[in-house]
Amino acid sequence: INVSLGPGNPELITVKSLKTLQESTSIYCPGTADKNGNFKSRSLTILQALPVDTTRIHCFPVPMSKDRTEANRMYDQIALEIQEKINKGEIVSITAEGDSGFYSSGNYLFEKLSNAGIPITTSAGIPAFIAAGALAGLHIVKQEEKLIVLPGTVSSGELQGLIEKNYVIVIMKLSQCTDEIHRFIAKNPSLHVHYFENIGATGELYCQDKEEIMTKEFPYFSLMIIKK
Ligand code: SAH
Repeated sequence: INVSLGPGNPELITVKSLKTLQESTSIYCPGTADKNGNFKSRSLTILQALPVDTTRIHCFPVPMSKDRTEANRMYDQIALEIQEKINKGEIVSITAEGDSGFYSSGNYLFEKLSNAGIPITTSAGIPAFIAAGALAGLHIVKQEEKLIVLPGTVSSGELQGLIEKNYVIVIMKLSQCTDEIHRFIAKNPSLHVHYFENIGATGELYCQDKEEIMTKEFPYFSLMIIKK
């Protein structure tokens, strides 16, 4: 079962996802290993704050390189482990932070399991940019406005084209495009820029001050909502 946990605040998990976790005999939780080899995982932090049996949690580090070879090797290994458990009659959940339908690398694992004939069900979650809109009290899109969600590969020129076409823009994975974003904001002083860090988690930040945003190094858990 593909279980979305919401963006950080444990209260933002759905009742359905929580029930699924409580009924699971194994809960697989992805994370990363930092420089010192310590396991770090937003999913695990959320899980630990929820009424679930922590002895059922299995953490696994996913290598964070652009080249996905190493990551896929880890997913292959986990897929085999999960297949064995399912063959023994276990109920296995795999967690994703936010909603698992948005930029979630775990989908590689589900594809593998599905190809092996294992039925997958998915429980929806609140994506980070929806929680961001609520935190800022934004009416994210109104009337005829259109929304576009972009990853960190976006360029300043692409953003310019979209804003001129009246798109409301959500940019995720900001740490990959800091310079492009700074360039774009500098060229468009009248824009409304809503910047967020660590929504619903330790270090939560909401900022609209462009001068401050312009000097920031964006961390991994940051996103932006930009409106004309
Ligand atoms: N599935 C997630 C997104 C995973 S991709 C979702 O639905 O939100 C990771 C990117 O999501 C980060 O680079 C950041 O842009 C955004 N993100 C996820 N959680 C966040 C949080 N709590 N605060 C700020 N940004 C977050």
